[in-house]
Amino acid sequence: MFGRQEFKERRFVSIKVVMDTFSKSKRSEIMAKVSGVNTKPEIKVRQYLFSKGFRYRKNVNDLPGKPDIVLPKYKTIIFIHGCFWHGHENCEAANLPATNVEYWTKKVSSNIKRDFHNKELLKMSGWNVIVIWECELKKKNREKRLDLLIKEILYLGLDR
Ligand SMILES: [Zn+2]
Repeated sequence: MFGRQEFKERRFVSIKVVMDTFSKSKRSEIMAKVSGVNTKPEIKVRQYLFSKGFRYRKNVNDLPGKPDIVLPKYKTIIFIHGCFWHGHENCEAANLPATNVEYWTKKVSSNIKRDFHNKELLKMSGWNVIVIWECELKKKNREKRLDLLIKEILYLGLDR
């Protein structure tokens, strides 16, 4: 078993070889997967927000945790967290693999700590922080979650 980074690199190497045989859109889809940005759940949330008239910045690298979505007008930040990597509590999708338990436990708990720390930093600078878990964006939950998201944004942004 090798680490995630190594895994990514290996995958990247094998992808690079065949890259030029893909169409442009297919290629950027693959690149998005490799780099971890513009993954599908984030796109769904962004599209929904855009359709409701919200304007945002995405993948903001100069804020703690590189937020997926930033709504400057509402001083609100949205993270879309993968259940496994970010350790969603009481979530089936966050179950650790049966092998290398120690490795995964360490990895995930350090992610949880980092997320917590980033959130605290953001809150201290006056940001509202909303976390959406990937399981909340599954088809059967999505509409309800996104509807709630709008309410959260408006409610949290009220006193601004
Ligand atoms: Zn979950």
